[in-house]
Formats: sequence, C-alpha cells, structure tokens
Amino acid sequence: MPVSTPAARAAAPAPSPSDTAMPQDFGALLRQDPEIGGILLAETARQSSTLQLIAAENFTSPAVLAALGSPLVNKYAEGYPGARYHGGCEQADAVERAAVRRAMSLFGAEHANVQPHSGSSAVLAAYAALLRPGDTVLAMGLPYGGHLTHGAPGNFSGRWFDFAGYGVDPDSGLIDYAQVRALARARRPKAIVCGSISYPRHPDYEQFRDIADEAGAYLIADAAHPMGLIAGGAAPSPVPYADVVCATTHKVLRGPRGGMILCGVELSERIDRAVFPFTQGGAQMHTVAAKAVAFGEASTPGYTVYAHRVVAHARVLAAALEAEGFEITTGGTDTHIVVADPAPLGVDGRAARERLMAAGMVLDTCALPYGDARGLRLGTAAVTTQGMDEDDMARIAVLFGAAVRDEGDAGLLRAEVRGLAERNPPYPG
Ligand SMILES: *Cc1c(COP(=O)(O)O)cnc(C)c1O
Repeated sequence: MPVSTPAARAAAPAPSPSDTAMPQDFGALLRQDPEIGGILLAETARQSSTLQLIAAENFTSPAVLAALGSPLVNKYAEGYPGARYHGGCEQADAVERAAVRRAMSLFGAEHANVQPHSGSSAVLAAYAALLRPGDTVLAMGLPYGGHLTHGAPGNFSGRWFDFAGYGVDPDSGLIDYAQVRALARARRPKAIVCGSISYPRHPDYEQFRDIADEAGAYLIADAAHPMGLIAGGAAPSPVPYADVVCATTHKVLRGPRGGMILCGVELSERIDRAVFPFTQGGAQMHTVAAKAVAFGEASTPGYTVYAHRVVAHARVLAAALEAEGFEITTGGTDTHIVVADPAPLGVDGRAARERLMAAGMVLDTCALPYGDARGLRLGTAAVTTQGMDEDDMARIAVLFGAAVRDEGDAGLLRAEVRGLAERNPPYPG
C-alpha cells in the first residue's frame, strides 16, 4: 500500500485496507490517488487505534457516510423546497423536506432550517435574523466556556455586536443566575445567549426565559453540544423556552458536520432568509441528506439508550478521574462533558494534554471557572458509540492518571490504550 509523503511514511507504518476496517470502499480512490487515499487510510487507522475523547466528536454511521458520499454532492439547490433558483431539484426538495420534517418531529419544533453549513453559521444566521450591528448581546463569557460566536474579538460576533459576558460561580462552577439577571437589567441586551463549549451541566432554560422576558430580550439557545442528548431524552429541551435554538448535527447527535436552527412559526421566515440568501448560498444537499439520516437514527429507541449511556459514562469517568486526584469542575456532570483540572497532580493542562496524546488519548484543553490555568475537557460521545462500557470508563480514568503523572512504562501504556480502542472498533469490518 503506497503512502507517498516521506513524513507520512516516517510517522506510521502504512496501513492497508485489509488491516484497517473501512466504513467505505476506498479501493478506487487508493488506485487513482495514492497520496490522498493513503492519508485517509492513515486517518481511519488513527481514529481506530487511539481514544477519541474530544467532547465535540463522534463516529457517524456507515449510512450517514453513504449519504455524504452520494451524488447529491453534485447538485446546486439555492433556495428552499418548491422555491429553488436551479432546475432539477426534485430529489433535493424531497430530501430537504424529509430532513425538516424529521427535525421538527424529533425536537417538537414548529420550524426547522437544516441548511446552515456549521454551528457557527447557524449562530450567525440567528443573530442576522434578530439583531442589528451594534446591538448588545449577553452570553457566557469566553473565559467561562462561551463559544467564539459569543463575542470573541477575532470572530464576527465580537466585531459586529456589543457583547456582555456572564460568568460562573468560582467555587461551584455553576452559572450565577443572579449575575445574569443583574447584567440583563444593567445592559438591556437585545438577545441573551445560553450555551457553552465546556459547561458540564444543563442551563436552566426556564430561568433564562424569565430573565430575557424581564429585559425584553430574545433568548437564543446555542445547544451545539447537548442537541444529541436532547434528541435522546437525556437532557432538557430548550425548544419550549428559546425564541431560536441553534445546534450542530455532528457532536453527540452523531450526524454529518453541519448546523441547524429551530424556531417558532412567527420567526420562521426571518430565520430562513437569514440563512439564505443573507449568510449562505447553495445548501450542501448531500449533507442535508446525511442530516436526515442522522435524525432518523436519533429517533430510534436504540439512540435513546445511547444518549443515556453517554451521560452515565461521563458520570463514571468524572468520579473515577476525581479518585485519580483530578479536580472536576462543578463536582461532576449531567452531560457528555467532563472538565478536569490536573493541577492537583502538579501538571498544567497543556503538558497534561501532550502526555495524554503520547499515550493515545486525544482531547482538548479548556478554560477553568477560576484562575488562568487550563483544564482538560473530555467527552464520552465517541467512546460510547464504539461500544465501550462503564468498566472501560473506569479503566480510561486509571490510564489517564498514569499518563498525566508520567508513571509506568510509556510503551505499555500506549499499548493498553491501543488495545482498548481496537477491541471496540468504530467501524467493525
Ligand atoms: C461547537 C459549537 C459551535 C460551532 O460549531 P461549528 O460547527 O464548529 O461552527 C457553536 N457554539 C457552541 C456552543 C459550540 O459548542
């Protein structure tokens, strides 16, 4: 099996289709373009020989991958079903109608827009529908777990809007609702955003609604992370409370990389126009088809079991990491996210992540509710999809502690992590 770059050859023995279970038939690609085919094969091997603990990642099903690789990728379909700027949209219309219908029924929403190219595109469209440049917006501050689209200086949101950031209580790590209310009274925002990249608990949507009503503000729920838990009934839904719900389809929800927006009928036209033509051109119809497949999967009893297992696994992992000496923000989790501070082990977040990476455990660092040090953010969506159980979570915490403390034989540690991953292949051959 040729791998054409010297760097790729040096990094790893070239995997071949026979020893890497492939979710798709890569034979033709490998013959035509060994360089790119080899890279994709190496990535498949990486995903199946290391532990994917990045909280925002998951493994899509072969059915989702099939939709993504379908000839619908060739189709231009600007506009919406029944009102396209291009001919030949019969199947594109059918697939988008199915995706919208499935999203509405899965989340109990009056309206769904499934075209946003990403979670950030969904948030951009929500702001475009509800706000004017210069408006004040209240969102979780970036140092506490706000997303780039919640007012980061380098993002459109920080450039075009006046963001005020709420925080969390430094001791409990929980959202300080009294502070949110006080800020809303003082700043009179046009919109309040709830949602985070690292908050391991459920936002109190009812409380946010009440604060928004008092301030005369729109409530935007950026549920990019928990949307899959919401689909599986393992997290409360913001749909009854928020004016607009933004989400990704690729995190716990386990669909293709992309975004979606839910809202009530009264905002539906504004949201649709904000997605197309205001912030996007042609929708990616192959992705819309894959979103429909993922919504179909997420509406099955098996997915409900999965979503609850994801949370149960995160709780086991959080408790076991605490037993290893890590400080767990908020004392645990209600979601797929665990944030662990390695400081009690005498290692900072960035060094800890490097040691974990060397042992084959892939994850991110993140801000902590207190101080400037970085914590470790991990999630259980991907390892749960590949079939790991609570005992595996407890074992991961032990391996995690050994890696961060840099104790024991590094080669043996890497081998055990590899064994755990390979016993639970994401795409069984
Ligand atoms: C992941 C995430 C996004 C953005 O998703 P992308 O698809 O990466 O643009 C937005 N908001 C929150 C809270 C997120 O966690």
